[in-house]
Amino acid sequence: MFTSFLQDKLAEQGKKLIKIDKWFPTLKTCSCYGKVRKSLSLSERIFRCKCGFESDRDVNAAINIKQEGMKRLAVV
Ligand SMILES: [Zn+2]
Repeated sequence: MFTSFLQDKLAEQGKKLIKIDKWFPTLKTCSCYGKVRKSLSLSERIFRCKCGFESDRDVNAAINIKQEGMKRLAVV
């Protein structure tokens, strides 16, 4: 319901809606090069990866969603 409304609104502006697979581990994936962690507890507000990348967990997830969306756009 919400997504079809969003899709219509975007289409009016010549834009496109890209949906990300709901199983894509946005929170557990490192946005540096896509390494996925085994677990991330809710109390861990800061995402830390072995590669040295450190970021707010939500910011890291947002970067992952953006990158995944860009990948899908490139395919289409
Ligand atoms: Zn990393």
